[in-house]
Amino acid sequence: MPSPYRDLLDKIRLAFPRPVSDKVHDSYFVHSILRALDRVDDLKTEVPLLGKPVEPDYDAARKASLRTKAVSIEEVTAELVGYLQGMPIHGHPRFQENVIPPPSIASLIGILLSALYNPNLCWDAHSRLIALAEVEIASIAARLVGYDPAQSAGLFTFGGTGTTLYGVKIGLEKACPKTMSEGIREPVYLFASEAAHYCKYNIASWLGLGANRFVSIPCDQANEIDLTFLEHRLREVIEQGGKIAAIIATMGSTDAFGLDNLEGIVALRDRLAAEYKLPYRPHVHADAVIGWAWSVFNDYNIDANPLGFRRRTVRAIAGACRRLRHLHLADSIGIDYHKTGFVPYVSSQILLKNREDLDLLSRDPEQMPYLYHFGAYKPGMFTLETSRSGTGIMAALANLRLLGQEGLQVMLGHLVEMAQLLREYLEGYATTTVLNRDNVGTVTIFRVYPPNVDTFTIKQQEFGDPAYRDLLHKHNEYNRRISAYLHDEAMAGRGVLLSLTDCYRLTSYGEPIVGLKSFILSPFVDEEHIQTVVDKVREAQAKVPVDG
Ligand SMILES: *Cc1c(COP(=O)(O)O)cnc(C)c1O
Repeated sequence: MPSPYRDLLDKIRLAFPRPVSDKVHDSYFVHSILRALDRVDDLKTEVPLLGKPVEPDYDAARKASLRTKAVSIEEVTAELVGYLQGMPIHGHPRFQENVIPPPSIASLIGILLSALYNPNLCWDAHSRLIALAEVEIASIAARLVGYDPAQSAGLFTFGGTGTTLYGVKIGLEKACPKTMSEGIREPVYLFASEAAHYCKYNIASWLGLGANRFVSIPCDQANEIDLTFLEHRLREVIEQGGKIAAIIATMGSTDAFGLDNLEGIVALRDRLAAEYKLPYRPHVHADAVIGWAWSVFNDYNIDANPLGFRRRTVRAIAGACRRLRHLHLADSIGIDYHKTGFVPYVSSQILLKNREDLDLLSRDPEQMPYLYHFGAYKPGMFTLETSRSGTGIMAALANLRLLGQEGLQVMLGHLVEMAQLLREYLEGYATTTVLNRDNVGTVTIFRVYPPNVDTFTIKQQEFGDPAYRDLLHKHNEYNRRISAYLHDEAMAGRGVLLSLTDCYRLTSYGEPIVGLKSFILSPFVDEEHIQTVVDKVREAQAKVPVDG
């Protein structure tokens, strides 16, 4: 008599794809996926959310425990779909909250294929041609930003934060050789602008520099790093005997798409390294996790404008390329395909101008006696991770192949076009004003004033004159109420989900300026949705009291 477990095992086997072709079971597999998608479809309504927002019950969640018996795929699918309740539909044209892109179908197929056969990128013996895909994407990205693919290398890692971590780690090893084996034995500093992503603090502390050795450099009005200030602080550190782990250039900041003058940073680095006869060349890492994609426009004919974008759009594109065409000057570059490449998380790549830099990270092969005996491609020799997934790689490859240069130009060009249109509409009214007017990205930050406020002068007064402190506060509160109204309306299926930024920037006297934010990343956004934003803002002005 067979033991009871054999019966149970037979049921459990149904839940795994057949290792050998079995058309009946294959269709059960596909059907299971379709059923899941059908259930998700039932959650779609007018609102840019799946189903209804549910308050998460964390108390109940903390009491969860393993169920005793196995269930069917159907049961577990229904349970899993339940977790999508209230999830924003990031590809919805009426979702404009944040830098979360909608993934393409091709990228989802890339993820599925990789997940299905589960390559491990620590070594090509376990990942076969998926390892080749990683090398191909490194070449594609290198050409895009102007690196020599024969010299450069690219690796996927755990997010944009991971890419910057790699850049700084390599810079640290250049500045202070042998920290890999002996640790940090001297004061060493990390530089970036105040607008740089906050991962700079994590990196300074996790690498052992200490978060206090992060040197924050102020930005100008356009959210660009102030080069005079940077020079001053670099000199200070060098003259006091400190070392420079890295300078991070932010090439597209998260909130405001600020673009640092990378060319200026690199020239400054070279000048100081020569003047002080530094025994190392301070590493410049470009955090281009958002900005990289604009490289597809580097050779776009701005005057002929073959894709027929509006002139304002073309001008904004030229403005971005003015900074981003210098990406190749950086020693390393961070790229997030999961931001402006329209693939699911996590898909991030660190690109190195010189692949020899990876030698600085190599561990002694004897520390890893099992994994690395044969096979030609062994990124596990220098990656921080041991197991690395192929999903981010296959998703990125899918979109690069799907869209090509022109497809990416169309996507980004359209998003910029829609952002420009929004700004034009908002500026068409006396009481709405765009805060980041000269910005060249797809995010628009604007401020709404009560009727009768002179918006031609108020922005300057609020920014520069402490006598306007009370009025600034009052208008900040007004914008919060407008934002709350727009949010409630959007959740009721009327309008567009925007977000609120608590501090677009500080006034000259140190007070935060609150603004409303539209971040456009859905290819489905069109003029009608832009019109809706403006109409709803006008409606909010009519309904929201000036004094809360
Ligand atoms: C999002 C972002 C990061 C962090 O990237 P993750 O992929 O979220 O880890 C770093 N820098 C910039 C400019 C970003 O926008």
